[in-house]
Amino acid sequence: MTDTVKYVLPEDRIPKTWYNILADLPEPPPPVLHPGTGQPIGPDDLAPLFPMALIGQEVSMDREIEIPEPVREIYRQWRPSPLYRARRLEQALDTPAKIYYKYEGVSPTGSHKPNTAVAQAFYNMDAGVKRITTETGAGQWGSSLAFAGSIFGLEIDVYMVKVSFQQKPYRKALMEAFGARCVASPSEETESGRAILKETPDSTGSLGIAISEAVEMAAQRDDTKYALGSVLNHVLTHQTVVGQEAIEQMNMAGNYPDILVGCTGGGSNFAGLVNPFLGEQLRGGPKVRVVAVEPAACPSLTRGKYAYDFGDTGHLTPLVKMHTLGSTFVPPGFHAGGLRYHGMAPMVSHIHELGLIEARAYEQTECFAAGVQFARAEGIVPAPEATHAVKGAIDEALKCKEAGTGRTILFNLCGHGHFDMQAYTDYFAGKLTDQHYDESELAMALAGLPSVAAAAE
Ligand SMILES: *Cc1c(COP(=O)(O)O)cnc(C)c1O
Repeated sequence: MTDTVKYVLPEDRIPKTWYNILADLPEPPPPVLHPGTGQPIGPDDLAPLFPMALIGQEVSMDREIEIPEPVREIYRQWRPSPLYRARRLEQALDTPAKIYYKYEGVSPTGSHKPNTAVAQAFYNMDAGVKRITTETGAGQWGSSLAFAGSIFGLEIDVYMVKVSFQQKPYRKALMEAFGARCVASPSEETESGRAILKETPDSTGSLGIAISEAVEMAAQRDDTKYALGSVLNHVLTHQTVVGQEAIEQMNMAGNYPDILVGCTGGGSNFAGLVNPFLGEQLRGGPKVRVVAVEPAACPSLTRGKYAYDFGDTGHLTPLVKMHTLGSTFVPPGFHAGGLRYHGMAPMVSHIHELGLIEARAYEQTECFAAGVQFARAEGIVPAPEATHAVKGAIDEALKCKEAGTGRTILFNLCGHGHFDMQAYTDYFAGKLTDQHYDESELAMALAGLPSVAAAAE
């Protein structure tokens, strides 16, 4: 038995600003392009979808962006979040490494997502918006925006990927408990949804399809905007409260990480933890090794192409340069629903191209095994997505054991798995298999990358 080691910051240490890594990078990321003209888009092109404050943050090169006081007030409900030293896990692994984790599962919906949901809902309310449409995969983002919408008096319409809608009925109930509406995607409500259903009546949906539906609905009404829970610059920037707090907490612990680990779906919890540390490094501070962990069944960073692509399947979004598996790629139905996006955040893709981070892919059964080992040592059941980060951290700790070096590892435990216990049930019953995507389907999806890309490169 080992005592719990926990680092808690007082409420007044909730960061006052978000950190924008673009200010510190040696070169800016490639521009976002208009799909029709192939030219860089301007703020006006995005105005039908987002309030101006968020568009400003999307293109900002300022290092610090002030967090509005009403947002910090809501953050106080669960922030600063705790940072733990995983002493019992270290013992179980018999490693000389020190393992720390930042725990975002303490938020009202059990993940890091409310960090940006609250901010986005606030700016929409402030701009007079009445309704927000969005998509959700496993339901974590939908329930987080539903929570934020209930606080700021906004109507929230969520298009939820059909396979998750069927597998995770409690997430829908949570959204409804917060007053939101949740629809299975593809749906009959939109042109994009109807087009998919006409071709594939039994489509299980994808994030790319659900984004098309939500964007289409937002563009139709003046009082309605759209919100995205990951991928975009402003979303990643909002998540940097995680890493900024972690720097202070590691300082309390009298330690600094050598290795940072995070799981990557669209890239937001990963960037939220690592960007503030990379910022220190870029400004002459200590160097960190940064590992992004993704599912082998949806390997955008490790197997995708760095190219201009659409963010959605219906091709309603601008073109962004990112690591992508192709916007028509539908990943197999593995359990980490939050990691099933065909692309990677342009900001994370860019820092990968700059050589600041490395990427690695794991199969789902080895991740669940790591998740169970973590739960038995630390008493927290990780979300299926978070088990990827756990697996990455455990592997690094085992490498330290082999090499006999006591490195310090910090990972982001981005959410708990209380809504995902069916996945654990399946894992214990031996029903989980490692899902392999169809190589020829991937090749086809990549071959279908937009040709405007060529003109712009
Ligand atoms: C949504 C989600 C993810 C994936 O999104 P990122 O933007 O990559 O963070 C990962 N983990 C959890 C718990 C999530 O809710």
